Amino acid sequence: MRRIGIIGGMSWESTAEYYRLINQVVKQKLGGLHSGNVLIYSYDFEEIEVLQRAGQWPEAARSLIKTAKQLQLAGADFIIIASNTMHKLVPDIEREVDLPVLHIADATGQAIASHGFKTVGLLGTRFTMEGSFYKDRLLKNFDISVVVPPASERQIVHDIIYTELCLGIIKQESKAKFLQIIGNLAAQGAQGVILGCTEIPLLVKSEDSVLPVFDTTAIHAAAAVELALLNN
Ligand code: GLU
Repeated sequence: MRRIGIIGGMSWESTAEYYRLINQVVKQKLGGLHSGNVLIYSYDFEEIEVLQRAGQWPEAARSLIKTAKQLQLAGADFIIIASNTMHKLVPDIEREVDLPVLHIADATGQAIASHGFKTVGLLGTRFTMEGSFYKDRLLKNFDISVVVPPASERQIVHDIIYTELCLGIIKQESKAKFLQIIGNLAAQGAQGVILGCTEIPLLVKSEDSVLPVFDTTAIHAAAAVELALLNN
């Protein structure tokens, strides 16, 4: 089994889910006492969030590059970044680190394509919904178009992520807001919705949603196990 290097702690609430899911999927596939071969570098998220908010992406990139190199030295065979947002920095990491990065948008694009969907909604941080790094990749690699909520709703989603979900706070009223926003995405023509922030699945479950959901945490964790066990 290949060793999975996780750049995590962004936030630890979702990294804990990755760890649980990876072990569960390995157990499902191999049985017995099998579990994941995993290294986790868990950031102090406060340090990362300060850089994000200040737009200090080059500094954040330097930090993630250093971490990826440390995971490589510790024997990781490939890297996963347990945050959609920080995939913004994948090109920087790939330039500097000689280790494959399993991209969350590719794993998610594959899951969407297997449903035959061509247009999906995207919920995540402002950086993910408003940047091009995620949408362009889905369009280029999978011919999937993305619709995002209007600015006022993007702000609501972003704020709930940072002031509640990353702190482990789950509120029914916030869930209701998300479900309303998902309903609006359906009205805009979305055939499904990407839960494009690794904490959103803590709040929104597929059974709650009018649209089929693509849970990036579960999809990415399962894809990591797939790659770890490839040709096994
Ligand atoms: N975990 C989040 C994501 O998937 C948000 C926190 C962060 O900015 O890293 O985008």
